[in-house]
Amino acid sequence: MAQPPKPNLHPATIAAQAAGAIDPASGGVVPPVQFATTYLRDENYALVNPDNVYLRSHNENTRVAERILNALEGAEETLIFPSGMAAIAAVFRTVPNGASVVVQSQIYWGTTKWIRDFCTRRQIALHEVDASNLDAFAALCRAEKPDLCLIETPSNPWLRITDIAGAAAAAHEVGATLVVDSTAASPVLSHPLEHGADIVMHSATKGINGHSDVLAGSLATNDAGAARWQMIRDDRNEAGAVIGPMEAWLLARGMRTLPLRMREMSRNAMTLAEFLADHPQVEQVMYPGLPDHPGHALAAQQMSGGYGGLLSFVVKGGAEAALKAAGRLQLFHRATSLGGVESLVEHRHTIEPHTGIPEGLLRLSVGIEDVDDLGADLGQALGQ
Ligand SMILES: *Cc1c(COP(=O)(O)O)cnc(C)c1O
Repeated sequence: MAQPPKPNLHPATIAAQAAGAIDPASGGVVPPVQFATTYLRDENYALVNPDNVYLRSHNENTRVAERILNALEGAEETLIFPSGMAAIAAVFRTVPNGASVVVQSQIYWGTTKWIRDFCTRRQIALHEVDASNLDAFAALCRAEKPDLCLIETPSNPWLRITDIAGAAAAAHEVGATLVVDSTAASPVLSHPLEHGADIVMHSATKGINGHSDVLAGSLATNDAGAARWQMIRDDRNEAGAVIGPMEAWLLARGMRTLPLRMREMSRNAMTLAEFLADHPQVEQVMYPGLPDHPGHALAAQQMSGGYGGLLSFVVKGGAEAALKAAGRLQLFHRATSLGGVESLVEHRHTIEPHTGIPEGLLRLSVGIEDVDDLGADLGQALGQ
């Protein structure tokens, strides 16, 4: 149903044309949704379409979404999961009992929490480290000889930048697999596989879908023949962590504008970061696009086309002042998540009070609204 994307096309072209997906049966320029859970055999018991037996393993809408993501990521193979957490769990289930793993500290809280529980259950030694400090990460790898390492860059909600090539070298030195959660960058702004990562993970719920209406996740690799990757692929098909056809269709539709959205969100976030950095009520702004951000030079080197729509800042006056400002916002919706076309604000300390998040920190997911409207809203909320 979908043609393989032509080589050398740019991301905006691949995305807008859904990597060549059309409906050859009707001539429609948009692929239909295929809801069938099972597929026909003919009178000789041959499959009518040899690619399709049963929905858990076979669905064209999932294939189309995977083809688009695969082309944008520059990967050999991409697998879509029903959520970002399902993708992370799929990777960690390949770690043998009794092995050890190195995981970046102060990343997406859901990841940290699940990995801690999982490692306890499976007698896996979990070592957490601020991986934006490459020396600390490399030393821990050398000491613990982990089976698997997970980093997240830019990290959520601290916006720390981790050196992907450096982390890959440190992991590979001890035979570990490096997994990069690249959700905040999306496949448009960063290509961790090019920097040596073995597996790239995304919560496609965020910027990839971009419309706050699909839960999905993905894994991509440049080494589809690796034993771990085959285990992940088989486990998805057999254990059934698959996305539904309608969600896959929506995801493919959302991705048509992914490069456009990421560009605009990055531009808006950069403007707001500069505005907040100069604001008297703001103590600190965490955004890798700002020249004084500690990870700026690294981000400039391993990201391209912008620094994303995720931005955190610390309001002077602690939790009370931050919550008051959040309560006054008219355009930013007070809600968790990120990467949608509409801007969101979240007080992370309310959600994860014991992880070292500053009490005055507000995390913004900057959308594609007019940046003057967003800036004016932030200004009035901070009492300018
Ligand atoms: C949201 C998120 C996840 C989890 O993804 P879900 O789709 O919500 O399961 C993992 N990592 C990061 C960085 C996220 O923002």
